[in-house]
Amino acid sequence: MRIIKAGTTGESGSAEEMAAINAFAKAQLTPEEIYTFSVLLCDNEVDRDFERFTEKTLLELRELFVGKTGITDHDWSAGGQKARIYRTEVVTDPDRKNSLGMPYTYLRGYAYMLRTQSNGDLIAEIEGGIKKETSVGCSVAASLCSICGEELGGGSCSHIKGKQYGGKLCYAELTGAVDAYEWSFVAVPAQRGAGVIKKLDPGKGLSGFVGSEDGSPFSKEFETLSREAALGRRYLKQLRRETLRLALLLDRKLHDALAGSVEKMDEEQLEALKESFDVRLASAFPPLTQLPGRNQVVKLVGDEYKV
Ligand SMILES: [Zn+2]
Repeated sequence: MRIIKAGTTGESGSAEEMAAINAFAKAQLTPEEIYTFSVLLCDNEVDRDFERFTEKTLLELRELFVGKTGITDHDWSAGGQKARIYRTEVVTDPDRKNSLGMPYTYLRGYAYMLRTQSNGDLIAEIEGGIKKETSVGCSVAASLCSICGEELGGGSCSHIKGKQYGGKLCYAELTGAVDAYEWSFVAVPAQRGAGVIKKLDPGKGLSGFVGSEDGSPFSKEFETLSREAALGRRYLKQLRRETLRLALLLDRKLHDALAGSVEKMDEEQLEALKESFDVRLASAFPPLTQLPGRNQVVKLVGDEYKV
C-alpha cells in the first residue's frame, strides 16, 4: 500500500474538498492550515496471503474508511501526528490488469493532516517523495474459495489457498465488508506484514492459518486430514441413508420419526441402530432360500445386459 502524492489531481484546496474536510474538523480549517495527500488503501489483487478483495467488497469498504484516522510510527506519544481520511473512491485503471486478468481496481483514500510543527517532518517526507507505506485494517464476513465458491475450509471445501487445482489458483475472495479500522504509516516500506491487515469475522479457522505464511509447513498434513474428514463425512452420510432405508422397510412411521434425528447421531449410534434394524428385518423377512419357488428358472435376455 503506498501513498499517492497529492497535487496531481489539482483539486486540493478546492471549496468542495474543504467542505469534505471541514465535515470532520472541529474548527473551520483553511487550505493553508492543512496538508492533503492520498493513499492506496486496498485493491483487487491476490496478495501474499492468497486473498483478494472483490470489487463489491472494495465498494463496501469505500464507505467504511471515510473518517478513519491514520497514525504515524514516528512518535506515538506525540498524539498530534494524525491524518484523517475525508473522502474515498474506488478507481479502476483501464490500462492495467491484476494477476487474474481483471481490470485493476483499488480503493483510494484522500487524507488531510494539520500543518503543525509536529507534523512537519512527515509532511516533508511525503512531499519529498520518500516512499511511505500505509498499513490498513479491516474485517470481512466471509472468505470464499475461488475454486468451489464455498466458505474456504468450511464443511464442503477442502481446497487450500495458494495451491493449483486443474491449473486454477485457489485463493480467498474476501466478501462482505464489516468494518474498517485505523490505518498507519509504516516507516520501513519492505517490512513484512505491512499492507492490508484483514480480519475475518468470526475467525479464520484452521484453513486460514494453513493458507498463511506461518501455517504453510502444515499444509500437506492439513490436506491429508481434510481428505480423510471428507471421506468420513461421506461414510456417515451413507450410514444415515442406509439406517433410514432399513427403518422404512420395517415401518414407515419409524422412518418418519427418525428422519430428523439421524442427522444428529454419531457413527456409533448409527451403527447400533442399523444393527438392530438388521436383526429385526432378518426375523420379519426370513431368507429368500426358504421361500418356495427358489429353483424356478429365470429367463435372461442377453440384450438387456449389455453394458
Ligand atoms: Zn473450495
